[in-house]
Amino acid sequence: MNAPADKEALKPSNFLRQVIERDLEQQTYAHRQWGGSPGDAAHHQHGEPDPARIRTRFPPEPNGYLHVGHAKSICLNFGLARDYGGVCHLRFDDTNPEKEDTEYVNSIIDSVRWLGYDWAQPGNDQPYQASDYFDFMYRAAEYLIEAGLAYVDEQTPEQMRANRGDFAKPGVDSPFRSRSIDENLQRFREMRDGKLPDGAAVLRAKINMASPNINMRDPAIYRIRRATHHNTGDKWCIYPMYTYAHPIEDALENITHSICTLEFEDQRPFYDWLLDRLAEGGLINKPHPRQYEFARLNLTYVITSKRKLKQLVDEGHVSGWDDPRMPTIVGLRRRGYTPESLQLFAERIGVTKSDSWIDYSTLEGCLREDLDAKAPRAMAVLDPLKLVITNWDELMGEGTLDDCSAPVHPHHPELGRRAFKFGKELWIEKTDYEEVPPKGYNRLYPGNKVRLKYGHVIECVDAIKNEAGEVQQVRATLVPDTKSGTPGSDAIKVKGVITWVAAADAVPAEVRLYDRLFAVPQPDTGDKDFLEELNPDSLKTVTAYVEPSLAQAQAQADEKFQFERHGYFVADSKDHGSHQTGGEGKPVFNRVAGMKDSWATK
Ligand code: ATP
Ligand code: MG
Repeated sequence: MNAPADKEALKPSNFLRQVIERDLEQQTYAHRQWGGSPGDAAHHQHGEPDPARIRTRFPPEPNGYLHVGHAKSICLNFGLARDYGGVCHLRFDDTNPEKEDTEYVNSIIDSVRWLGYDWAQPGNDQPYQASDYFDFMYRAAEYLIEAGLAYVDEQTPEQMRANRGDFAKPGVDSPFRSRSIDENLQRFREMRDGKLPDGAAVLRAKINMASPNINMRDPAIYRIRRATHHNTGDKWCIYPMYTYAHPIEDALENITHSICTLEFEDQRPFYDWLLDRLAEGGLINKPHPRQYEFARLNLTYVITSKRKLKQLVDEGHVSGWDDPRMPTIVGLRRRGYTPESLQLFAERIGVTKSDSWIDYSTLEGCLREDLDAKAPRAMAVLDPLKLVITNWDELMGEGTLDDCSAPVHPHHPELGRRAFKFGKELWIEKTDYEEVPPKGYNRLYPGNKVRLKYGHVIECVDAIKNEAGEVQQVRATLVPDTKSGTPGSDAIKVKGVITWVAAADAVPAEVRLYDRLFAVPQPDTGDKDFLEELNPDSLKTVTAYVEPSLAQAQAQADEKFQFERHGYFVADSKDHGSHQTGGEGKPVFNRVAGMKDSWATK
């Protein structure tokens, strides 16, 4: 619990900040008590004044891996709590027994921590789980029955659907709507005790079948489902519906601002109806939490449906949840994204009340901004062509290697310098030689001089080609007294500077050049199956030569570099490094992003 820091006050305002600031000013939640853990009205009444000025929550359903949309929600909820002296709860919304798994629970915990957030509070470092509130949810349901506000409906699902009406047509009362309280209570207990088969009955809130809001037409709040739950095992064969469970979870946890995506806007009247009734009955305290909706994140070239991401994994279109092309947090991490870049992204896109698409280049821009300031530099040649210095032996002596160095980071001299060799044979990029230079081309062509960055100036002589006319080797002469950093080295002016590595100390590496996973800017929005919109060229693997400092890259630390001229790269957390432990494998680097934006929608 931090007091708002001064720098936070500079953050751009948005409608959620305005709501919170108004509530703090009006002391809306200033007099709440906190029982030290989630609980009902009595539990909190015996507690201390709530030390958290506001409480928010991030409530994932543990049925998949978190993605970039969740990252937005995490940064938003944890960020607001941090900025306003509050607490944000991590809560597993595990009320649906069928699709949930502890594998997902663990990965969600890791992802939230990796993003830089913590839910621990004094005396409690465990995340909350909605399934711990099943007893209370059941008790609240009996209370609603006793208050004449809920009934057991035994219409068939088809009848129920037909009688619900639609936007144009009011609903029709169920014949079971007028059951007595005693009969409802008895029947609900039979549901709980396993006397009715799955699907034979539901408990419904008794509100208004003619409401213009269909969600208020007696929504179902409990269903019968025989399924083993990962937390409660076989204790229950009835489970609460999401719309009923969620407001209760918020209330028991003393949440003040319950922030969700826009599709829940029409559920808000039921959220308030339910909590108003439970507060009247003395089961929860007032003022109860309030729901606020914001636009979910849509990112170009990306899909964020958990179900569809799972399909990509299950059908082998990607190598797993952590494939570097996946928009999952584990995928983004392996791709080389940093927590700071995702936080910056969340802040930059802000929160709004209307849906829109955010350009992928915005996300990449945040990554570049973060990494430019801190990533060590290195030289790498991704598409190697041999360069031979024909006068080397004569000038430097046969077999000589010349020591060169470069700053680890141009703006951080304290990080020191990296060392590498210059020699007779070097690797350069294929595109750095042209026999007939196009207009404006300043790199190698016969007769032109260029600087090999951090090395010497050379003059291109010619190239050796194979029978097919392909360039096999470029030949050049070294211009004496031009070594970078030595006096007079810049006496000869050149227009082009190129990157290189020496054949003698370069390290071969596998470099994975990732591109967008989908070929269209708004995948899964038209008539086409989203699988047909996959980009067939989303991964190109090359064998590159990298400077020797990169052989030390620590994949465990997600170590990232700027390969000069090429962009940002990370040592792959899974496949890099077998060479470090004595194995045969090469270093493996993933391209996070190029130096410049190539994503903007044209
Ligand atoms: P899916 O429908 O793909 O399963 P979900 O929204 O149901 O996703 P949850 O686990 O229920 O996934 O989401 C947890 C929280 O993350 C919710 O509060 C939800 O509003 C938020 N969230 C999910 N997707 C996005 C998104 N694309 N942008 C912003 N917030 C999101
Ligand atoms: Mg959900």
